[in-house]
Amino acid sequence: MEIYLDTNATTPVLVQAAQAARQAMAEDFGNPSSVHSTGLKARAMLDQVRARARRLLDTGAGHLLFVSGATEGIQTAVLSALNELRSRRAAGDDSARWLLYGATEHKAVPEALKHWSQLLGLELPLLAIPVNRQGLHDLDFLREHAPHAGIVCTMAANNETGVISDLAGIEVVLQQTGSQAMWLVDSVQALGKLELHLSRSRIDYAPFSGHKLYAPKGVGLLYVREGAPFTPLLAGGGQEGSLRAGTENMAGIAALGAVLAAFEDGITFRDEQTLRSYQTRLAAALEAAFPGLIFNAEPALSLPTTLNFAVPGLSSRLLQDLFDAAESRVSGGSACSAAKAQPSYVLQAMGLPEWQAAGAVRLSFGPVADEAFISEACARIAACGLSLRRNCLSPVGNDPTIGDGITRFTQDGACCYLLADSASQRCLLIDPLPEMVDALAQALQCQGYPLLAVLGSKPEQQQARALLAQALGDLMPTAACDASGWPLHHETLALGASQLSRQQHREGPLLLSVAGQPQLAFTGGLDRKTLEHVPPDLLLAPGSDEVQLIATTWGACHALPVLALESSKLQAFVDAHPDALLVDVREPYEQFLSLTPKLNGVALQAMPLSRLLNALPTWLAEQRPLLFFCRSGNRSRQAAMALARLGHSQAWTLVGGLALLPSAPAEQFQPDPALYV
Ligand code: PLP
Repeated sequence: MEIYLDTNATTPVLVQAAQAARQAMAEDFGNPSSVHSTGLKARAMLDQVRARARRLLDTGAGHLLFVSGATEGIQTAVLSALNELRSRRAAGDDSARWLLYGATEHKAVPEALKHWSQLLGLELPLLAIPVNRQGLHDLDFLREHAPHAGIVCTMAANNETGVISDLAGIEVVLQQTGSQAMWLVDSVQALGKLELHLSRSRIDYAPFSGHKLYAPKGVGLLYVREGAPFTPLLAGGGQEGSLRAGTENMAGIAALGAVLAAFEDGITFRDEQTLRSYQTRLAAALEAAFPGLIFNAEPALSLPTTLNFAVPGLSSRLLQDLFDAAESRVSGGSACSAAKAQPSYVLQAMGLPEWQAAGAVRLSFGPVADEAFISEACARIAACGLSLRRNCLSPVGNDPTIGDGITRFTQDGACCYLLADSASQRCLLIDPLPEMVDALAQALQCQGYPLLAVLGSKPEQQQARALLAQALGDLMPTAACDASGWPLHHETLALGASQLSRQQHREGPLLLSVAGQPQLAFTGGLDRKTLEHVPPDLLLAPGSDEVQLIATTWGACHALPVLALESSKLQAFVDAHPDALLVDVREPYEQFLSLTPKLNGVALQAMPLSRLLNALPTWLAEQRPLLFFCRSGNRSRQAAMALARLGHSQAWTLVGGLALLPSAPAEQFQPDPALYV
């Protein structure tokens, strides 16, 4: 069963909302502008939903328009305010010198300001109202700038942190300074979570979005204070009192109406006190699972349904993958590009350290959450903590681990290799970098094997060796070594059945052999010329690997095609390839938590991408059909590409990964340690 903890991004549609939408599409499908009975019925529903929304938001005499969502509401509000500024300017009023918006606003706000200011020829500068460490607007800045502001945009609650703005304080400043600015309050995250009495405030525009509160995507509301300037964004058939043309999204509006009715019934939605108690339980579960965790915003100052946190030493991406493996959906506090997480501009604006801004995770739940849901969410969080401790990734309290074979550590494309032998309890490191030292030291301490050597001749690798010596103490090699870390008077370094050797002139690659037969060469930063004498079919493990080759050979230039398998064809594939091996390339902390497809009689192997090198020689020799899978299909594609490039003719990737397979029923959610650990 999925535990969805990302409601600030979007919510599922409430059952009664889906029913209302279905009815509006199939039965009461009239156009509310038609004068016949079918149209009148539709009009009555529309009026009813609007009346309910007016009551709940306490809109007084203000307008409440149905729009497609908050982004449209924001455009309409900004266009209206900026068009008014243009008229004022034309009438000789030049008092507006800038446009103010909170530094933590959703991008829709500053982007709309920029767009319309330019289109309307206003070209007024945008000034961000700074926020303090708590994420609250700097009211002194506002006091200073409000008199010459054309518009002031301050969201009701932040989507990343949940921080609740001091709207009352902002209103006082606007009043005291006699500001003529129009006031836009993006209220998307407040709906259903904070009480709003719009008619009692000076707020001119307040956009809302249905899909953040159990209605479908594509429907929203815009409140416009009575008397506030207004310019329609859409002109046409005169719908919505000519304020917003276009036939209304009746299915969406019906669904929104059902959500608002559920909100009013006092049963479906939890009250604020209950939501706070849920927030407290989740916060405690997080702190217990991830020692050292820091909340990026004070939970008590945030929406009772949002927690934003970071864990020292763990990236946002790792934590998201971990939660995802536990069938629990959270999001990064920031937008992620494929290669590297971008730090959150919201957390940066709050002045948080870079690691917190880049490592943020947001957990959010909706007001229909109940006891059972929160208990299950806490259990999943605990399972995530356990997985980290089992796999030596927790900041404290890790279990000992057994190391065997080759594990690759990467940092911004650079690769370091840890070679371990569980029988002799020895290990060695190739090409560590200073940025990797914390992670390496933690892994080596959990494993507890003494190091035979820490190899690498570049200055940064020597620096990493010195840092590791500080962190590891007794586990560091004791024998005297040369500048590259190679122990003096040793031709080879024995690690169980394998031997590591280097070439006479020392500038060549490090060769890993078994029974005298080279299996793999670690090439470090060597170029092709230096590697000329290496046999064309010897596997090469690169020193840097930005494009995830994983391994290559000189002969690997005629790549075979990667075979892609759609998830719907999985059973057929297994039936057609009884000798196939299904390979889970996710990392061990994900494998520990998560179900894999239950397919009778099929061989399954856990081989994380970081350890793929270990299996390559056997797989290439066997040429048995291999089907790689992971969470999203990304890593499995990389594995299949590596195999195809190396000449494997039957390397498949499961397109879309486990995410596209039907989700497992609730009772099947069990970490499966027997299979993987
Ligand atoms: N404002 C805030 C605070 C939001 O969280 C969002 C959605 O992410 C939006 C605006 C945009 O809303 P919509 O998706 O309805 O256009």
